[in-house]
Amino acid sequence: MHSNRCRPIQLKTEVKSSCPTEIGAEVEEEPPSPQACSPVALQTPAETPIKVKSPRKLIIQSLPLETPTPRRRFKQFYYPEITDRQWNDWRWQIANRVRSLEQLERFIHLTPQERMAAECLQGKLPLAITPYYLSLLVGHGADYALRRTVVPLIDEFMKMPGEADDPLGEEDQSPVPGLVHRYPDRVLFLTLDFCSTYCRYCTRSRVVGHGRLFFNRRRLENALEYIRRTPTIRDVLLSGGDPLTLGDARLDWLLTRLRQIKHVEIVRIGTKIPAVLPQRITPQLVRMLRRHHPLWMSLHFTHPDECTPEAYRACQRLADAGIPLGSQTVLLKSINDSVPVMKDLVHHLLQMRVRPYYLYQCDPISGSAHFRTSVEKGLEIIRGLRGHTTGYAVPTYVIDAPGGGGKIPLMPDYCQGHCGENLVLKNYEDKLYQYPDIM
Ligand code: SF4
Repeated sequence: MHSNRCRPIQLKTEVKSSCPTEIGAEVEEEPPSPQACSPVALQTPAETPIKVKSPRKLIIQSLPLETPTPRRRFKQFYYPEITDRQWNDWRWQIANRVRSLEQLERFIHLTPQERMAAECLQGKLPLAITPYYLSLLVGHGADYALRRTVVPLIDEFMKMPGEADDPLGEEDQSPVPGLVHRYPDRVLFLTLDFCSTYCRYCTRSRVVGHGRLFFNRRRLENALEYIRRTPTIRDVLLSGGDPLTLGDARLDWLLTRLRQIKHVEIVRIGTKIPAVLPQRITPQLVRMLRRHHPLWMSLHFTHPDECTPEAYRACQRLADAGIPLGSQTVLLKSINDSVPVMKDLVHHLLQMRVRPYYLYQCDPISGSAHFRTSVEKGLEIIRGLRGHTTGYAVPTYVIDAPGGGGKIPLMPDYCQGHCGENLVLKNYEDKLYQYPDIM
């Protein structure tokens, strides 16, 4: 077990002495109706779990408004008292997240490695999975890609050489609590440390889910003041945690304050919500968001099985609101590290009107060795996409340089050197061509 990961975070966050529940601070402002959102006791233990397959064949033209059949079957089995309306209420989904070993065992049969990890999580990245995302896992084995992204394994506790809690050096680039200023013209604004579902490979696992970084207006005003008095900042990326777990009113307040700063040209929101809690993308939310253009969104899709009808509908709503959508995908061993899986994912993304933007080499965070692939694997995937599919479908493969060096793009070696005055180039079929270069 690696004890460093249990240390308090260093990112100049304000620590509350008594931590309310993570969602507690949020519901104070916009209380959900008790009936709609109170956690429910699970009705049926999963002694004979139902088989729920993730839908892969989608007909975009007929995006369903009702709950798709696999989710309906899951809901009827595990939450028979819950109405469709409750299931499709994002606050109900958050209030009923699966957060403990005991809860998780009602849905899936845990392996010894998973059980041991779930028992030892104290002080580390917590376990939390929305019922919606859980419905995509149930009926699959322990090696299933989506399960591996959210169910902890004991490997998380093993720190390998070169790994660190803060590999990107964000702590050293934080001028005020919750703000990271690495590049001169843009800042990363950590709005809160709460996510609806925690990804086991999260780069910011030292911060997220610990209940220390709240939507606290005094802290936010300090961060806004820093942005206000730094005229080089033209781009603000709201992240966390997941900013879309904030209620509409709070998000509106923050976006309004940012929009009042003249030199802030664009605001971006980084979120995994369309993949793990698509119910959050309500017509009310997108109506509010479209008032704050130019607004961009970086979505986080990992695997084609996340591209459900619900995720399609969520992205459609965002795109219809005029928000340019890009996806940032982390390359993960035995999850999405093959050309067919990645091609399937990027094809879904294009149909969802999401541009595959970055493919990230997994950061060397402590306990991430079981998720990391070789860099050659990433290059192989890019080689398998470039020229073999639509150019828009090919993301930029990057390594976020350890120590705070920023993103460095990596490309397969298409340039083979010079032959006389000609540049020798290799195409996607490994055929050689010459271009008359100007020397
Ligand atoms: S949604 Fe993003 S911030 Fe939250 S756990 Fe996943 S990777 Fe980390």
